[in-house]
Amino acid sequence: TIVLGIETSCDETAAAVIADGHRMLSNVISSQMDVHRRFGGVVPEVASRRHVERITDIIQEALDQADVTLDDLSAVAVTQGPGLVGALLIGVSAAKALSFSRGLPLVGVHHIAGHIYAAHLVKPLKFPLVALVVSGGHTELIYMPEHNRFERLGRTRDDAAGEAFDKVARVLGLPYPGGPEIDRLAQKASPVIDYPRAWLEPDSLDFSFSGLKSAVINDLHNRKQRGESWEPAEIAASFQASVVEVLVEKAMRAVKKTGVSHLVLAGGVSANQGLRQALTARCEQEGIEIYIPPLQLCTDNAAMIAAAGTYKYLEGRFSGFDMNAEPNMPLVE
Ligand code: ATP
Ligand code: MG
Ligand code: FE
Repeated sequence: TIVLGIETSCDETAAAVIADGHRMLSNVISSQMDVHRRFGGVVPEVASRRHVERITDIIQEALDQADVTLDDLSAVAVTQGPGLVGALLIGVSAAKALSFSRGLPLVGVHHIAGHIYAAHLVKPLKFPLVALVVSGGHTELIYMPEHNRFERLGRTRDDAAGEAFDKVARVLGLPYPGGPEIDRLAQKASPVIDYPRAWLEPDSLDFSFSGLKSAVINDLHNRKQRGESWEPAEIAASFQASVVEVLVEKAMRAVKKTGVSHLVLAGGVSANQGLRQALTARCEQEGIEIYIPPLQLCTDNAAMIAAAGTYKYLEGRFSGFDMNAEPNMPLVE
């Protein structure tokens, strides 16, 4: 089974070729970070335009690097949603065109399903499992009884973890995207400031990060008014410690509640060193097998989309040409 994956949900134009659901023959990513950085965030119209300019070449590059042609493909998988509608449409249109012209099965993939399958590219996922999904737009605990079946155990009630990282980075004057910057700074100091942890109701597997974000912003504001200076690394380390403690604790609660012994860390924030270390240590303690994607597969890529798409393809779950980009696509149907 050889599947071409296409991902254009946000600001990376990406294409990849995956064999047998897990062997990465190619993984091409064209990031638009440089274009959006000067605006401090992704500008949707600019992103769509960039995708249009790059998509054809990126797909060709993915095929070339994998040393395959369109004739070798079993299917085309594409991120159907969620994401920016204009950006998604570029990938979906490209996938439909290939599917139509070559008679290839078309498979629409949920972006977050893709993030979970990133871990599958290094170690085959074993079910049932719990996935902690932490990205720019999502913070969720997902139960998966088998391939491509998802049940939600908890979700953020306000900001996503990555969003909180990016916003706190912005008030610290760090460049976009701020997550990696906070991560880097946090390694230089101890978490000496006691920022709040949002546990919510005692049995809740939901998250909330807006209170923490406000606490950091207020702290900086008060220090400014008092004419006090601060150590950015201490702020970063303390903020990160608060996020990581809650994420790790709730992930372990989800594991216990469902009785699984496999935990997947997924999404852009899974690149965070503090989170990777804390979760790995905790899983070792509790005898849970952990799956963490390598750094280059944590953020958006098409290899993860092709991997998730392969298993939908094997189940015969194809999309028709009426398939549309779904900016608010739900993971749990
Ligand atoms: P979604 O996947 O929810 O649609 P997205 O695709 O924009 O959102 P990703 O590309 O998966 O998000 O992840 C990007 C997010 O990950 C950004 O918020 C970024 O700051 C964060 N991030 C990346 N690396 C790190 C890191 N080392 N530490 C913390 N956050 C990080
Ligand atoms: Mg991105
Ligand atoms: Fe993503």
